[in-house]
Amino acid sequence: MISYKNHSEKLRLLNEEKFSLVENVQEFLSRIEERKKLNAFNSLFVEEALQRAEEVQQKISKGSAGKLAGMVIAIKDVLAIKDKPLTCSSKILENFTSLYTATAVQKLIDEDAIIIGKTNCDEFAMGSSNENSAFGAVKNPVDETRVTGGSSGGSAAAVAANLCDVSLGTDTGGSIRQPAAFCGIYGLKPTYGLVSRFGLTAFASSFDSIGPFANSVEDIALVLEVLAGHDKNDSTSIKTETKSYSTLLRNDEQKLRIGIPKEYFAEGLSAEIKVKIESVIQKLKEKNFSVEEVSLPHTEFAIATYYILTTAEASSNLARFDGARYGYRSKQSSSLAKMYKSSRSEGFGSEVKRRIMLGTYVLSSGYYDAYYKKAQQVRRKIKDDFIKAFSKVDVLLTPTTPTTAFKLGEKTTDPLEMYLSDIFTTSANLAGIPGINIPIGKDKNNLPIGLQLLANQFEEEKLLLLGVILENEILTD
Ligand code: GLN
Repeated sequence: MISYKNHSEKLRLLNEEKFSLVENVQEFLSRIEERKKLNAFNSLFVEEALQRAEEVQQKISKGSAGKLAGMVIAIKDVLAIKDKPLTCSSKILENFTSLYTATAVQKLIDEDAIIIGKTNCDEFAMGSSNENSAFGAVKNPVDETRVTGGSSGGSAAAVAANLCDVSLGTDTGGSIRQPAAFCGIYGLKPTYGLVSRFGLTAFASSFDSIGPFANSVEDIALVLEVLAGHDKNDSTSIKTETKSYSTLLRNDEQKLRIGIPKEYFAEGLSAEIKVKIESVIQKLKEKNFSVEEVSLPHTEFAIATYYILTTAEASSNLARFDGARYGYRSKQSSSLAKMYKSSRSEGFGSEVKRRIMLGTYVLSSGYYDAYYKKAQQVRRKIKDDFIKAFSKVDVLLTPTTPTTAFKLGEKTTDPLEMYLSDIFTTSANLAGIPGINIPIGKDKNNLPIGLQLLANQFEEEKLLLLGVILENEILTD
């Protein structure tokens, strides 16, 4: 089996002709076939990936290949790729084909990555277990009786099961960090506005962010470097200087100050996760990191605020799926109103419908002030908590999830219980700040445990710097 720990090692082995890119892609394809039961992919681009492998191999030998030369990447099926299916794991888009390519995906292609296929996810990225897909749940590669987490479950499973090098996911309330934690890999949600959302099917536009899953911090840094940057097609993408995250990784001059938000270690957190995180904190102290307790007093309101604001935005964003313009149209279409109603009723799954109804309710004229406006005000308070905390510390360290991966079917009948699995991740999206999941070991059932690092807006390098120290120095001894 071809094996390497990150992209720079892969490139070295390719240059030494230890294996060819075509062999590498073939190996991924046969593993995808072997692990078909995971249900990680919605579509595969077999011929194109093999052909690209040959082209990129030639570029490598000529020395003209881009930064991601030969990196095999899977894309969450909410991102557009020209002439490829874009289903959002929904029946309503089952036969829809994209007319253009998302900026994030194009940037990967421009740096000579190889796109291998599109991954399964919760329908329109709404969910925490990947059980809301119209094409069936994704199984956790570590234990197939358990969920991968969601909504980017297919992307997380694909990296964890070694079905590709890296994948892209999206994170509106935790959909990169939570499945990364459940599957035992790295997953980064960038600062809101750092990566263009052009070509991403919108769920909650003021929350959605696109980011990578990988098996090393180094690969996360490299892919982020390619993804980041202003895009004139996305008016919320920010004009900041682009940073060379992969070289910043090697700067260990700076001793980061670490904050532990006490609200994240309260009731509901699994004892095993708590103990594991405390042992990492202890090791950081031994390495002379300054660690202090901080408070984010509005944490308890995060889930409610998140579910009011995101459902409001979703109800508006999903209005476009009306049977007329995209995808599925019901046969029950004797009048215009009937066509809208039946297409949406038959096309959307139950979680998506629940959110559209909740969102429509919180935006309705009689309730707008009580719910939507109030939630906007609380969002500001949550953000202010972070601003205050980051005036004292560089990075916040928390658990990523309250439990390890739960059983398939365990929470499907109780949406509130399901929503609570996002308790540690939604705040970062409310505040627009970046976060990363670092796998730090296993529980007694051999299930991965994740640690979350959060930093102030546009300070991804601090997450990566501490992440690499954890990966290479703390978790190895
Ligand atoms: N699990 C959360 C939700 O259901 C987050 C989803 C996401 O980040 N896309 O909304």
